Amino acid sequence: MGSSNVILRSLPAVDKVLAALADLPVPSAVLTPRVRAALDGLRAQSWERTEPWDADEVTASIRRDAEALAASRLRPVINATGVLIHTNLGRSPASARALAHLMATAGGYCNVEFDLESGKRGPRAGYAEACLAALCEAEAATMVNNCAAALFLILRIHLGGDRREVIVSRGELVEIGGGFRIPEILETSGAVLREVGTTNKTGIEDYARAITPATALILKVHRSNFHIEGFTSEVGLAELANLAHDHGLPLVHDLGSGAVMATDQLAPIDHEPTPMESLASGADLVCFSGDKLLGGPQAGILAGRADLVAAAKKDPFFRAVRCDKVILTLVQETVTDYLASRDGKTPEVPVLRFLAEPVETLRQRAESIAGTVNATVGAARVEVAAAVSRTGGGTMPTSAIPSVALVLRPRDGGPRPDSLAARLRRHEPPVLGYVEDGALHLNLRTVFPPQDETLARALAQALV
Ligand SMILES: *Cc1c(COP(=O)(O)O)cnc(C)c1O
Repeated sequence: MGSSNVILRSLPAVDKVLAALADLPVPSAVLTPRVRAALDGLRAQSWERTEPWDADEVTASIRRDAEALAASRLRPVINATGVLIHTNLGRSPASARALAHLMATAGGYCNVEFDLESGKRGPRAGYAEACLAALCEAEAATMVNNCAAALFLILRIHLGGDRREVIVSRGELVEIGGGFRIPEILETSGAVLREVGTTNKTGIEDYARAITPATALILKVHRSNFHIEGFTSEVGLAELANLAHDHGLPLVHDLGSGAVMATDQLAPIDHEPTPMESLASGADLVCFSGDKLLGGPQAGILAGRADLVAAAKKDPFFRAVRCDKVILTLVQETVTDYLASRDGKTPEVPVLRFLAEPVETLRQRAESIAGTVNATVGAARVEVAAAVSRTGGGTMPTSAIPSVALVLRPRDGGPRPDSLAARLRRHEPPVLGYVEDGALHLNLRTVFPPQDETLARALAQALV
């Protein structure tokens, strides 16, 4: 018992540990209970110990935990993964122009639901909706929290009475990342899935045979995050629209990524179907994400027939997934930018800029960074090599965009690629690359040009 007391007393006091964490940018209201819990845990273990605790070691271990917490605060990182729409890194960056307007609307009060003409309550997001409809060449459009919510809402407005079945091809029942599967989203809405065809082949007669009085709609899901090759066939949208309309049914197209520019003209990659094309082919309603290839904030856009969009907005669930002024401003400004740059110009949307950046420009930037780093750091070698970028975020699985990477190949006795990667993650701001073929790669396609200098500094520091 006596020695147990000695062991207990060897633990540092809460105040002492907190004092050692005072420099961390974490509020003490968050730190204090964690420190107490950590010390309580050690106190409980004390009964099994024969030696006193090393107070410095205990403090250092609690500090490591607190540092990891501090590092998890949302903050900017340099994305050198080459993945343009990286879901773990926040998908699309917002444009400077949209952010400038956001400062004004969200940093104060704004007319989000106020009609300045009449001085009364006004429609929410009317302007953004008008711009979205024009961009998608749709009768009407609106937006909600994300594309999954848009899909859910679309199903809700079509289900009723005995009509509960949604016809969808087996080849399109995809998982959209993070373990969320399209079929599960569909079923939570109360829909009954009527899967048709097989994984690789679905014909128009498969759809036709599945139509019954219980059918609520036909759904086509754009297979945006994987690709089936070989012996495949699927039904074109126009043919499917004819079938649906012959039976008085709506055709809904979940586009997912929602490119509104011809991606094949921006970069040497595939053509991603656009909402305009889907609607022109006869889809009654389309939905897509705001933060994939549109390059806006997280949102789910619905566009198409005016009566269906109006029904979606009247559904009580719409209120649960509506966007706030921050999202509405960013969507409005992003879409306005597209509409203002229709004459062949690329809008100021970062993902589009990244997509369209010529390899030559990337190579020049890479040479320049490598030159600076190699001149100052003798201990390691930075090479410039051809690389491949991906759109990511569940978009265009087969599209490989030519790019350029800085390649950090370890020298004998130098740090291994994994430990170099860890050093760069600890840099302020953190730099994220990928390890491939025994070397750390930093892909420049997703690095903003003004970040080049910071990147060079981070490399110089990591390579000492
Ligand atoms: C990404 C994706 C979704 C989900 O979009 P969120 O905006 O992340 O909810 C739905 N359908 C398809 C086809 C997708 O690619």
